[in-house]
Amino acid sequence: MKRTRLVPLVSVLFVAILAGAPIARQRDRSLATSVGTAKRQALGWVDANADVLKRTNQHIWSYAEIGLQEVRSSKELVEVLRANGFTVEEGVAGMPTAFVASYGSGHPIIGILAEYDALPGLSQQAVPERKAREGIDSGHACGHSLFGTASTGAALAVKQAIASGAIKGTIRLYGTPAEETGIGKTYMARAGLFKDADAVLTWHPGDLTDSSYSYSKAMVSLKFHFSGLAAHASTSPHEGRSALDAVELMDTGVNFMREHVKEDARIHYVITNGGGQPNVVPPEAEVWYYVRANKHTDVERYVEWVRQIAQGAAMMTQTRLAFVRVETDQHEVLPNRTLADLIQRNLEIVGAPKFTDEEKAFAQKTQQPLNRAFDRALSETIEPLGDRPSQGLASTDVGEVSWEVPVGQLNVAAYTFGAPGHSWQIAACAGMSIGEKGMLVAAKTLAGTAVDLFESPSLLDKARADFRTIRDPMKFMTLIPEGQVAPKAIRD
Ligand SMILES: [Zn+2]
Repeated sequence: MKRTRLVPLVSVLFVAILAGAPIARQRDRSLATSVGTAKRQALGWVDANADVLKRTNQHIWSYAEIGLQEVRSSKELVEVLRANGFTVEEGVAGMPTAFVASYGSGHPIIGILAEYDALPGLSQQAVPERKAREGIDSGHACGHSLFGTASTGAALAVKQAIASGAIKGTIRLYGTPAEETGIGKTYMARAGLFKDADAVLTWHPGDLTDSSYSYSKAMVSLKFHFSGLAAHASTSPHEGRSALDAVELMDTGVNFMREHVKEDARIHYVITNGGGQPNVVPPEAEVWYYVRANKHTDVERYVEWVRQIAQGAAMMTQTRLAFVRVETDQHEVLPNRTLADLIQRNLEIVGAPKFTDEEKAFAQKTQQPLNRAFDRALSETIEPLGDRPSQGLASTDVGEVSWEVPVGQLNVAAYTFGAPGHSWQIAACAGMSIGEKGMLVAAKTLAGTAVDLFESPSLLDKARADFRTIRDPMKFMTLIPEGQVAPKAIRD
């Protein structure tokens, strides 16, 4: 029986040092990555504190708080940051569960993003079959318990190197709530919280390990509220005007619109208020839309068309389109070549997570309901970095940050290979050792990358130049009305 094991970090470092780092494929000697004192301190801290990080993940995973309600989850992270000497400002950008934690002083200011919101309806135990937890509806089916914990771990690891004097500058951890609805970072960016950062790093749990050199889709989230007239649905339907009819006609109109949008567009909706019961003509109804496309400029046009359809539906039903509220607007992520290269090199130093036979058996069991053949249960390799940016299918409010400052991202295998996004399989893995192994690789890679940025001003210059090349020709416009503050809740 082949036993897989984690290659101890020290031996990796030792080999790296013996090999006289720089390490990895070098495109450019000025970007050479090495394992010096500062990085050794940072990576060593993650190893020495792995149990603390695992415990933190377990707590946040068990709270499974949905967006804007992450009270205990954010508190958990804030407490560990404060205990380690970070200055923390809570409740930033009008969101009680958003925070900014800093350690050190002056430039460079390197930011790391943390997410910690769960998804409703995806309660799941850390077992390899679909099994909800008792008494809780939500679950970490996007792995954000791992996300928030690893990012916090990375910030704490970098802090060690600043505290020892090995590097100088500020490490900043951004606690960003409600990613699943694209709210946290969008409103934090509107509040100008990223403006003075030199670069921002982030990651996401995945089924593969790679440096993310990729665009995401731009996305606008908006709610359409119709008002009609209530009436007894049997004795006086002629006196009523159904707001639900307007919602249904609007949805039908948008479904016909689909034929005439670009292939990369994605439009989806849920009816958040469809009335009370059938014998009352619904006087109020509401439908919630996400409109996405690869480019924000296309989203702008599609949103306008969807608005016109809503007005048409109101006209057809003699109801009123009472209001349209743009909840959030997130731009496509702008990839950064320099940061993608640097992350790739650090990933190669740290290595992809390695899993035990038991963990592979666990993951394999979670693949069974997927009714497809897989060539592996878990990924244990690092994907090659492509020459050109790829196009992702999802959206993230990381996009808003990437329009402000250079952003580098990675994915680390932390759940079943082939598991669909937002599935119970992900929630199950996030609550056990599979997810935790990915989390530790992410923490080390983020920390190692940050240390390189502290140590090399030329790297930051290069990342900034990449950023300007892609960002400067574009005009930023948001569909969020001026002066609008973050919503208080996801559903109201
Ligand atoms: Zn996510």
